[in-house]
Amino acid sequence: MTPRWVDRLYAAAFGFFWLPCPVCGRMFGGHEVTIECEALVSDDGKTAQVVCPDPACSVEARARNLKRGFALRGAFAFDVKMPK
Ligand SMILES: [Zn+2]
Repeated sequence: MTPRWVDRLYAAAFGFFWLPCPVCGRMFGGHEVTIECEALVSDDGKTAQVVCPDPACSVEARARNLKRGFALRGAFAFDVKMPK
């Protein structure tokens, strides 16, 4: 596995975000996001933040979204119309 500082440098060098995962809090970069990554919808349902590549975080985000009535699927589904 690549050391975290290498990924941090890579993100900075190529303009990707470097942010904490909204589920586990681990720092990760935009270049690590895959189509498998879920996005955690905010409480007001207006925004969503992609989670880190850990599959457990996608499972947790999906469960939290569904629990609150949001059915957003996938990090690249931001054009999906959000439920009111
Ligand atoms: Zn995570």
